[in-house]
Amino acid sequence: MYSEPEVADVEIDLYEALEIRRDASKDEIRQAYRKAALANHPDKVPEDQRPAAEIKFKTVQEAYEILYDEDKREVYDRHGMAAFNGAGEPGMGGAPDLDDLLAQMFGGMGGMGGMGGMPGMGGMGGMPGMDGMGGGRRGKPGKSPDEQQDYEISLEDMYKGKTVKFASVKNVICSLCDGKGGKEKAKAKKCSTCEGMGHREVLNSMGQFYTRSTVPCAVCNGQGEFFSPKDKCKKCKGKKTVEQKKMLEIYIPPGAVEGEKIVLEGEADQVPGQKPGDIVFRLVQEEHEVFDRSGADLRAEIVVTLAESLTGFQRVVLKHLDGRGIEINHPAGQVLVPNQILTIRGEGMPMKRSEKRGDLYLLVTVKFPNSKEGWKPTPAALEQLKGMLPKPAEPIQASPVDEVDYDAEGDLAEFGAADNEGAWTNVDEDDDEEGAQCTTQ
Ligand SMILES: [Zn+2]
Ligand SMILES: [Zn+2]
Repeated sequence: MYSEPEVADVEIDLYEALEIRRDASKDEIRQAYRKAALANHPDKVPEDQRPAAEIKFKTVQEAYEILYDEDKREVYDRHGMAAFNGAGEPGMGGAPDLDDLLAQMFGGMGGMGGMGGMPGMGGMGGMPGMDGMGGGRRGKPGKSPDEQQDYEISLEDMYKGKTVKFASVKNVICSLCDGKGGKEKAKAKKCSTCEGMGHREVLNSMGQFYTRSTVPCAVCNGQGEFFSPKDKCKKCKGKKTVEQKKMLEIYIPPGAVEGEKIVLEGEADQVPGQKPGDIVFRLVQEEHEVFDRSGADLRAEIVVTLAESLTGFQRVVLKHLDGRGIEINHPAGQVLVPNQILTIRGEGMPMKRSEKRGDLYLLVTVKFPNSKEGWKPTPAALEQLKGMLPKPAEPIQASPVDEVDYDAEGDLAEFGAADNEGAWTNVDEDDDEEGAQCTTQ
């Protein structure tokens, strides 16, 4: 059922709501708030104007809560109300820096679950985050959201294993207020915007349609209550948590694979009343210039000269991921041909919890001599070479046309371009299987 639109479904400019300039100072914001709150207080207006005043009053309150808080003001200035009410204009939710920005500013605060309504924020808990949030207060301790992030790692490090130390900043329960958010004797006020529920319904307009969704309340950060500015804890400024730097270490074992998860238990942001979640690193393998990997096997190209391919050789053909040289001793008289594969057993990736290793596949490329690079044998030498190499096969039985001209630098990309339209359709007379296949491509 459609009812009176709520505050959040119309894009209201918070600065306009308080009738202040965009560069207003905190003092100006507070003064403007007092003035506007008094003027619009529902108790101060005649009965018939009360619903309208109530909405205006809530807007003013919301504007104050967001603009007076420097962090939230910055988010608002950059992303508008979409960052707070989950109305998520299409294409905006996925803004890559928003996750980081919010995570960095609000960390694991209850309000974070609030942002979960936004597309692209799934990792931080989304709506399920709300259960955890409320759960804390209802004495049903949940777990704060896990923090997932990708960790790019080189193939060398996956081969050898690696220990990574890094400084992490996480939110920990404020030691001054013990996670309460307010001064010792202060009592939190019930949030009037959400009537203490911590969340509220908003109408999102999608063209001419409206959809209803429940979003955590931005005014109280989904807590259902908040401390007035003067009652807020001095140390955490009412956020209940403070940032703390900590050195963390992760160990990536030799043979680690793409997508593998390294878990740092309990190292995610702390949330009052909840068990801290984990920091989870998902390994992402960087592209490698030389090696391809499939499971525990590795593949690389080696280049040999035509002379080597014909006469054999013994030399290092490849530098392995740990820096060792892979030496091949190819006997004289055994010709190596282009695209031949040499498999070296046990020279692939290490396998975890095992002494076994994958295999190394070497794809042979034969580098032919090139007259442009100065290969100019004498006619006598060429005659000699011809005498040594096998003779051509039986001649093809057909009478030759006039000598043809040809381009020695042809390009297969042009294949089929001469008559693009006719490329496949001229097989139509042939009603055999192959013709049918071709026409469907
Ligand atoms: Zn505190
Ligand atoms: Zn609220």
